[in-house]
Order: sequence, then C-alpha cells, then structure tokens
Amino acid sequence: MLTLTCPYCGIPCDETELAAGGEAHLKRFGPGASDAEFEGYMFHRENPKGVHFERWRHAYGCGKWFLAARHTVTMEVFGTYEAQSTEPPQEVRDRITARHPGWTWRDFA
Ligand SMILES: [Zn+2]
Repeated sequence: MLTLTCPYCGIPCDETELAAGGEAHLKRFGPGASDAEFEGYMFHRENPKGVHFERWRHAYGCGKWFLAARHTVTMEVFGTYEAQSTEPPQEVRDRITARHPGWTWRDFA
C-alpha cells in the first residue's frame, strides 16, 4: 500500500485517504499556444517505470492538494511538498539522486 505524508497536516496517509490527481508539474498553455503545445498539455502524460511526480489530494483529511515524488516500481516515496511548488524541492531531488544516480526527468535531473 502506498503511504504518503501530507505536507500540510504532517500525517502519514494510506492511499485510501487520498485522491490521485495525475501528473505534477505540467506546463500549461493558454490562448496563443500552438495546436501541438495545447495537445501536449491536454493529452500527453509521462508514464515512467521509475521516478514520477504526481498530484494528490488529502481527500479524507485536510482536503488540500499536494505533490509527491515516488518510484512507480518500488513505491519508494522521496518526498511530498506543497502543490504551489513549480518544481521539486532540492532535498527531494537530492534524495532521488542518492537512490538513483543519473536519473533524469524533464528539467529536474
Ligand atoms: Zn492533509
């Protein structure tokens, strides 16, 4: 079972207390964007076998959205952080690099 710690409450939550919100750190495109950019934003998602950044909501707790970094195969959680973050905190990236040297994902390597 996946257990994530809500960064607002500080409570470790089973996945039954959470609602998944898909991939985190999507680059949004608005009016004036090309069709390809908007299509990428709407439909293209990462589906890695490895490190992934996701949106979660503490649905049966404080109700707030937060972000999590985890490994999709081992279920290892590298950290959770506030949803307003535009990129993963350095300590989360350092934890990932310590466990998976040379990992890359978008611009966060
Ligand atoms: Zn919470």
